[in-house]
Amino acid sequence: MSKRLRSSDVCADCNGPDPSWASVNRGTFICDECCSVHRSLGRHISQVRHLKHTPWPPTLLQMVETLYNNGANSIWEHSLLDPASLMSGRRKANPQDKVHPNKAEFIRAKYQMLAFVHRLPCRDDDSVTAKDLSKQLHSSVRTGNLETCLRLLSLGAQASFFHPEKGNTPLHVASKAGQILQAELLAVYGADPGTQDSNGKTPVDYARQGGHHELAERLVEIQYELTDRLAFYLCGRKPDHKNGQHFIIPQMADSSLDLSELAKAAKKKLQSLSNHLFEELAMDVYDEVDRRETDAVWLATQNHSTLVTETTVVPFLPVNPEYSSTRNQGRQKLARFNAHEFATLVIDILSDAKRRQQGSPLSSSKDNVELILKAISNQHSIESEDNDQPDYDSVASDEDADLEAAASKANRQKLLGKDAN
Ligand SMILES: [Zn+2]
Repeated sequence: MSKRLRSSDVCADCNGPDPSWASVNRGTFICDECCSVHRSLGRHISQVRHLKHTPWPPTLLQMVETLYNNGANSIWEHSLLDPASLMSGRRKANPQDKVHPNKAEFIRAKYQMLAFVHRLPCRDDDSVTAKDLSKQLHSSVRTGNLETCLRLLSLGAQASFFHPEKGNTPLHVASKAGQILQAELLAVYGADPGTQDSNGKTPVDYARQGGHHELAERLVEIQYELTDRLAFYLCGRKPDHKNGQHFIIPQMADSSLDLSELAKAAKKKLQSLSNHLFEELAMDVYDEVDRRETDAVWLATQNHSTLVTETTVVPFLPVNPEYSSTRNQGRQKLARFNAHEFATLVIDILSDAKRRQQGSPLSSSKDNVELILKAISNQHSIESEDNDQPDYDSVASDEDADLEAAASKANRQKLLGKDAN
């Protein structure tokens, strides 16, 4: 009996065997080589995770698997499947193609230009607007059909769309219906589990009310995804949301470093940021954590692969054209922080996120993110030249459990210890 070939057995971009990475927001599995191109495009294009060496929330992985096995890749390659396109001479990459330029060009056309996505006919009397697409999304998430929703999102439907007549968002609808995989997909595309509907209720409320407990718990996790990821990066643990613990703030073992004037100044700057700018900075730091962790996985897994001759690391966060050049520069500077400096920044962000969440609003002055980054990057420039092993006390605010010692150790354990299936 021959095993039926599932789509997840081959790379979505080049048909190479045994893809070991996933592009979460595209719903595809990809090989090492194609992944190196995805990474160079940035997370706004493709959010990659290693299938085995990145820890996965089970339902997030299930969401991607379901999408891929149900043909989500055809969303991104729609016009390539049309016989008429043979005329254009366009074709998919194949495993023997060179990464540069062949695979890279194809992947950029496919995901960055969306060159092969189905364009809706756009007539004057019947123009399909983002609003119509969002309304379709709003009703589609009631069912389990993930591909339809990804298709709508690819065409411009907004995951956080507030339906003016129904008075709620797609995530409210999915949560009421207990559609956990739809909720995962919407969250990847930016839906917020804390959004209130016209009755003041959140998707979490509806999931609980409907007895969808796994979904309710997962939605809470998604709400704290940013700070959880930062904490996990530092100490390899996440807060226990079920028991009402929403933050873990690790501390540097050598706290004397925190007493420098520069450190104090940096902290003050951070605290005086408007919530909006603080969120931007926190998101940038999250992206940098993701870059560092994915690099670590990349380097660890390439040792075992003879297939890949080019080791491509991503040296700093790729430019996101939707951000200002100042912000893009600030994002790229994060790569210059050594592990110790970066850990300090992450801890400061965590502390301030907790403070802001617990509601002590400060004046929303418009300080420049740049200044903070500069101040913090100077902070330990002398002390920590050769120190890429930051030390942590095990200081979960109100817990006495052991925290893992250092970020690098936590990373190593994530690499070696965890196997998603
Ligand atoms: Zn590939």
